[in-house]
Amino acid sequence: MPVLVLTSARFGDHTPPPGHPERPERQHVMDAVAARWRELGGLVAEPSPAPRDALLRVHSGRFLETLESAAGRAVMLDPDTFTSAESWAITQLAAGAAMGAVDAVLEGRTTRAAALVRPPGHHSSRDLARGFCLINNAAVAAARALDSGLARVAIVDFDVHHGNGTQEIFEADPRVLYVSTHQWPFYPGTGRADDVGTGAGRGFTVNVPMERGATDADYDLVFDEIVVPVASRFKPELVIVSAGFDAHEEDPIGAMRMSAGGFARLTGRLCAVADNCASGRIVLVTEGGYNLRALAASLAACLGALDGRDEREAAPAAAADDARRGRLAAQQARAVQAAFWRGL
Ligand SMILES: [Zn+2]
Repeated sequence: MPVLVLTSARFGDHTPPPGHPERPERQHVMDAVAARWRELGGLVAEPSPAPRDALLRVHSGRFLETLESAAGRAVMLDPDTFTSAESWAITQLAAGAAMGAVDAVLEGRTTRAAALVRPPGHHSSRDLARGFCLINNAAVAAARALDSGLARVAIVDFDVHHGNGTQEIFEADPRVLYVSTHQWPFYPGTGRADDVGTGAGRGFTVNVPMERGATDADYDLVFDEIVVPVASRFKPELVIVSAGFDAHEEDPIGAMRMSAGGFARLTGRLCAVADNCASGRIVLVTEGGYNLRALAASLAACLGALDGRDEREAAPAAAADDARRGRLAAQQARAVQAAFWRGL
């Protein structure tokens, strides 16, 4: 079945102050990638805004009121996070795109879908907008899947930052596995390997902090040794990918050395998990990625991977790379997670 892409030129109407890295031009890139996708015969559709009850599944009423009261105005929500006049409408539309992607795969209209959205979401918690994020799009998507009757949903987050908001929202919920690879130490300062979730959710938060400078080979190793084995044992009925591309070597914020093909390869591995456990169902939701050229190449490569093609982009990582950072990160994660995931 063809991959469905949900995006809207309206995402370009969320305009933080000039010079902010999470800028409208990022949407112009996503629009171009979506247009190319359509030319190649792919499906592209316009999303609908998420209804309030869907947002209330992961955010407090007070949080939504704060965002709503900023409608029509430019407001600073935290030192990194701003609204413009259209932001309230746009963030509801972004969450609606993530939700619409879930609906499409659960209704069997496709098995693989991608929501190309901004603003990103994974730093936003139940009560706080942070780190360029307003509504937590991936969390809304996961909650939608649970409400539609799924018993287990995996969120895999390869953005260069830890998705502290997503972790907080689901840390006590054993129905949602949250797995994050992220640069460490780095913003937002959370996501230590020994953060494993709370209460009934213990073991369903898997953090893999990685030293700056990690390459495709490091990420490949961490996915092969930790992310894929844990996700496979969890047996998700849907895989959601928090797809940030700020671990790309050209990104101005992250200090990792990933390539577009590297992201495609990670996406391919997650498609395999979805094929083995989730009847193929996988939904990609964009997060960060601040070099426009790298964002364009990475997104196109990941759509190719979702579509099960573009072998060239997904070529193996350089053989000479000894993946030292990946081995170290996998070792640390294994030391903590082996208690929850036997035989890891
Ligand atoms: Zn990020």
